[in-house]
Amino acid sequence: AKGERPGKIRKPSALTFEEIGGQENAKNELKEALEFIIKYDDIKKFGIRPLKGILLTGPPGTGKTLMAKAAAHYTNSVFVGASGSEFVEMYVGVGASRIREMFKKAKTLAQKENKESAVIFIDEIDVIGGKRDGGQHREYDQTLNQLLTEMDGIHTEESPRILIIAATNRKEMLDSALLRPGRFDRHIEVDLPDKKGRLHILNIHAANKPLADTVDLEKIAEESFNFSGAQLESVMNEAAIYAMRDGSEKIEQKHLTLAIDKVMMGEKTDRETSN
Ligand code: ATP
Repeated sequence: AKGERPGKIRKPSALTFEEIGGQENAKNELKEALEFIIKYDDIKKFGIRPLKGILLTGPPGTGKTLMAKAAAHYTNSVFVGASGSEFVEMYVGVGASRIREMFKKAKTLAQKENKESAVIFIDEIDVIGGKRDGGQHREYDQTLNQLLTEMDGIHTEESPRILIIAATNRKEMLDSALLRPGRFDRHIEVDLPDKKGRLHILNIHAANKPLADTVDLEKIAEESFNFSGAQLESVMNEAAIYAMRDGSEKIEQKHLTLAIDKVMMGEKTDRETSN
C-alpha cells in the first residue's frame, strides 16, 4: 500500500476473523475490546470511558492488518487504512493535514455507507509516533500532534464512532503521549504463530489450491518453525508455482518442502543485502 494517498477509501473489506489463522489469544482479546463499540448503549449507561485506540504489536507479517480489517467487519464499520510512512513529507504541515484528511474521509465514508462506526487503521505507527526528541523532527511532531488532537476530539456521542487501530513492531519506540489513557491504551500482542497456528494458516491458504492426497501439512507446519503468516502464505504460493512448473496435476509434498527452503533462503538473502 506504499505510495497511496493516506485515508484513501479502500473497498469495504469482507475479511472475517475466520480467515485469520492461529492468533487465538489476540483474536479473543480484540473481539473483547470491540464489545466497547458494539455494546455502545451499555458502555454509556455505565459511564465507561470510550475506547478510542487499540495498538497491535508484533513482528511483521503476523496478520495485524488482517486483524484491523476483521475488526471493521465484526463491528459493521467502514475501514480506512494508511501506513505511517505515507504521512512523512518534505514539507512541514503536509503530514498533519493528511491526518486531518484521513479522519474526514472516515466520517464521509461512514455517512455514505450509512454506518454508525468507522475503523481507522494506521500501520507502522512508529514512523509518525516515535519518541519526540527536542524538536529535531518538527514535521513528525506536527503529524503526531495532529493525530493526538484528532484522538482527543473523538466523542462517542458523535456519529460515526471512531476506533483507531495502530500497528507496530517497535512498541518501545513509541512516544509516551500516544500510550496515555484515552489514546492507545489497549495493547494486543500478535506474535509469530505456534505449530497449531501455522497449520491453520497453511490450511487457509491451501483452500483454493489443488493438494495431492499424500500431502501432510502438519509436517510442513512443523518444518516451518518461526515462519510468519505472510511467509506461510508465500510457502503455499511457491509450492503451487513449483507444481505448475513440474507439469504436476496437484501440489505434492516435495513442492512444499522446496517452497519452505525457498522462502527461508529468500529471507536470508534479504537480510544479507540489507546489512
Ligand atoms: P506488517 O507488520 O508487515 O504490516 P502485518 O502483521 O500487518 O504485517 P498482514 O499484512 O496482516 O501482516 O499479513 C500479510 C499477509 O500474510 C496477509 O495478507 C495474509 O496473506 C498472510 N497472513 C499473515 N498472517 C496471517 C494469518 N494469521 N492468517 C492467515 N494469513 C496470514
